[in-house]
Amino acid sequence: MVDREKIKTAIRLLLEGIGEDPDREGLKETPERIARMWEEFDRLRSFDMKLFEEFGEYDEMVLVKDIKFYSLCEHHLLPFFGNVHIAYIPDGVICGLSKLVRTVRALALRPQVQERLTQEIADFLERELKPKGVGVVVEAEHLCMSMRGAMSPGHITTTSALRGVFLKDMRTREEFLKLIKEA
Ligand SMILES: [Zn+2]
Repeated sequence: MVDREKIKTAIRLLLEGIGEDPDREGLKETPERIARMWEEFDRLRSFDMKLFEEFGEYDEMVLVKDIKFYSLCEHHLLPFFGNVHIAYIPDGVICGLSKLVRTVRALALRPQVQERLTQEIADFLERELKPKGVGVVVEAEHLCMSMRGAMSPGHITTTSALRGVFLKDMRTREEFLKLIKEA
């Protein structure tokens, strides 16, 4: 649950801390706006993972590429964003594209690190779909590396998480990684 008053107080203090006047035109609505934004994130995070139980015989790889996501790094609260590629080999249960998109969004819209986001997506799908295996690759640009620190704009960080046959079977893993690279 989001505490709107706490967020408003914090944003006012942040603005004061950097020498801004939080009551000036243009800034005076900002604490309220940011509080409402976090309420919106909170709503987007919750969804019901209803499964589509069908295609009991289908046991080939299901691959969804280029799911766009936006997240916030937990070290600076600056955005990191990019694409998630998800593949799994079903064991009687498959799930629709919109569920995958919402899974990614729910896990991304919070203070995160890319490595954990990648693993949480894989763990969640492993738990919900009980597939023979799942593979997740995340490619992202981090504004905390582009705007500050290394000042390395456009730099893409890649992380992956492999479960089940994606871990055990080299051919499955290679097929997944090859399909991701294909345009
Ligand atoms: Zn950061």
